[in-house]
Amino acid sequence: MTKGVYWLRNDLRISENLALARAISECDEVLLVKVFDDRTWDPSRMSSIRANFALQSLYALHGKVNDLGGVIDFIHGRASEEIPKIMKSWGAERCYAQREDAWDEVVEEREIGQKVELVLSEGKGLFSEEDLPFDLVDLPMVFSSFRSKVEKGLSVRPILKAPRRINCSWTARGEFPDLASLAHQQPQFDSRAAMNFLGGEDRARDWMKEWIWNRDCLKTYKDTRNGLLGPDYSSKFSPWLANGCLSAVEVYWEIKSYESKRVANESTYWLLFELLWREFFRFVARRHGPKIFCREGIKQDGLSKLKENLDMLDNWKSGRTQDDFVNANMLELNRTGWMSNRGRQIVASYLIHDLGQDWLAGARYFESQLIDYDPCSNYGNWMYLGGVGNDSRSSRVFNPVKQAEFYDHQGRFRKLWLS
Ligand SMILES: Cc1cc2nc3c(=O)[nH]c(=O)nc-3n(C[C@H](O)[C@H](O)[C@H](O)COP(=O)(O)OP(=O)(O)OC[C@H]3O[C@@H](n4cnc5c(N)ncnc54)[C@H](O)[C@@H]3O)c2cc1C
Repeated sequence: MTKGVYWLRNDLRISENLALARAISECDEVLLVKVFDDRTWDPSRMSSIRANFALQSLYALHGKVNDLGGVIDFIHGRASEEIPKIMKSWGAERCYAQREDAWDEVVEEREIGQKVELVLSEGKGLFSEEDLPFDLVDLPMVFSSFRSKVEKGLSVRPILKAPRRINCSWTARGEFPDLASLAHQQPQFDSRAAMNFLGGEDRARDWMKEWIWNRDCLKTYKDTRNGLLGPDYSSKFSPWLANGCLSAVEVYWEIKSYESKRVANESTYWLLFELLWREFFRFVARRHGPKIFCREGIKQDGLSKLKENLDMLDNWKSGRTQDDFVNANMLELNRTGWMSNRGRQIVASYLIHDLGQDWLAGARYFESQLIDYDPCSNYGNWMYLGGVGNDSRSSRVFNPVKQAEFYDHQGRFRKLWLS
């Protein structure tokens, strides 16, 4: 009888889950374990809106696991201590998990791997490190070069089927935590939100079908993707992708299906293009380890002088700067955990270039607020805008007034958030 523990990370789904499929195929019994680490869940590091979305996703997974006969146990502490402990209590031989890319997660993997047999699978992205047409040390510095190299022989694996059963004889000891037990308050839904994001695998798949097929938004995505208002202008897949409710591989095949059944055009290609940015930043994080969390970034030059000013930073965070377009975007973030890609670029550029503040402070604030927070995409994009990342230009400066004129010509977005 082989027993395996499945360590839940940013992979909150049953279907299209490579690591879970492997655990179930190699073990007679599999126990899923979620460890709540207070370093991550502390309200100073994670807003209640973000925590709520993550808990909803976990709750949905819990229901699915129970339906399949399986068990999730909920533990508070450090994964590197709790996973080996529970494995010992139950007599599990191996721990299975999704391989992550960012430094803290890699360190955690190493710590667990030193104590027990840890089997990692690459399920986070479209492809794995082994599929890259170059060694990781030779990862191109700029996206265009990465893209042209990986696109040439791009081969994405087929979609995995969901398991039919998860056998497990363990009786869970931990209760499913509510927000209050994690020191969070129940957030209030703001009716101005671009959409009502609900966590979980089914919600993710429903929205993917709705956006691509029913609303037919993929057809025009390249023209609409810089929008600011409503659910349709971009896919809004990121919160589910970041928490692993949705698999990038599944999105890829949905695009392909749409292209063969309805239309293949620049827009359908562009969604894949954006998913390749996600892949790029995953590998940048893996290649450069802790550097992406340092002010010097991966360039180690091009730093501008800081005007350290906590009031300026606070005003930026709370949407009280001199610029109303920046403020509107920050209010949207604070009230909903969401901001458009255009908004993110503008507020980040404003913090760095207009206010002369540290890009890391901005990145940390985004980390705490965004429901789609992902360490690789967040720090990768911030580094890029801070001039210390993967950009051939020394910095990218956005003029917020011109941006507002262009992207919010009638002022509808500003009116929504400022009045
Ligand atoms: C300063 C800054 C911080 C960011 N922080 C995050 C973050 O923490 N988590 C996150 O998922 N994205 C982050 N992004 C990237 C991007 O803004 C979001 O992925 C996108 O806005 C999500 O909306 P969508 O799902 O509708 O995207 P779409 O436009 O529909 O794109 C589809 C998918 O492609 C990926 N993608 C798109 N643009 C990017 C990009 N620039 N970099 C990496 N992946 C991308 C996302 O997975 C996205 O869901 C950040 C961008 C900036 C400028």
